[in-house]
Amino acid sequence: MPHVALAVVAHPDDAEFQCGGTLAKWARLGAVIHHLVLTDGSKGTWDTGVDPAELAARRRGEQVRAARALGGSGDVTFLDRIDGELVSDLATRDLVCEVMRRVRPDVVVGHDPWARYRLHPDHAAAGRLCIEGVVAARDPWFAPEQLAEGLEPHRPGAILLFEPDVADHAESLTPADLERRIEALLAHESQHHTTHLPHSAAAGDEDPYEAFRRREWTLAEDAGTWAGVGLAEAFHLIDDQL
Ligand SMILES: [Zn+2]
Repeated sequence: MPHVALAVVAHPDDAEFQCGGTLAKWARLGAVIHHLVLTDGSKGTWDTGVDPAELAARRRGEQVRAARALGGSGDVTFLDRIDGELVSDLATRDLVCEVMRRVRPDVVVGHDPWARYRLHPDHAAAGRLCIEGVVAARDPWFAPEQLAEGLEPHRPGAILLFEPDVADHAESLTPADLERRIEALLAHESQHHTTHLPHSAAAGDEDPYEAFRRREWTLAEDAGTWAGVGLAEAFHLIDDQL
């Protein structure tokens, strides 16, 4: 149970989809929840008539509302790298390091950069940036100019990787935590028709939003069955190299 948690994600909505219940649980128990979103989300539509800058601005607002729906009271920081073009370079790593040294999380949550058969390049790059950002944040000889600006090195106690290649850790959820995740996901209104609804096949004349809610419950129930609890989200835990 962290006092301060930081989710490092590629796109607006990744945190809510992959660890929203866990963030909601920690917020309910008193933790400060911060979001760091690395890209602007400007390719998150199938509509070729959309202005990418307008979409990015809209998604920024949606992400802030989603973070608040989870109960997150911390910062929502956007690095605004172009969606689909995220790379784990030194300049971006230093910016991730700077956020970690500023908000000083006990637990960092991010994409698993070693997950096999995952297609989206931003997710792999975001996973690398999260891991390498932790290494940089703890070591004073990484980005030493930040120390002169008053940012001290910071060593989190654990990293939790979601969509893990090998799951070895679960966070149990209450039904209310899961409902907060669903509420936060629905705050990403621009994504309903590209992401939320197409992956939630409605049965018969079922309302597509009901199918979406049912899918979210099934995912949490399946992870809970694996973990031996009612509802859960699954992760890979790294706490031995920090
Ligand atoms: Zn994503």
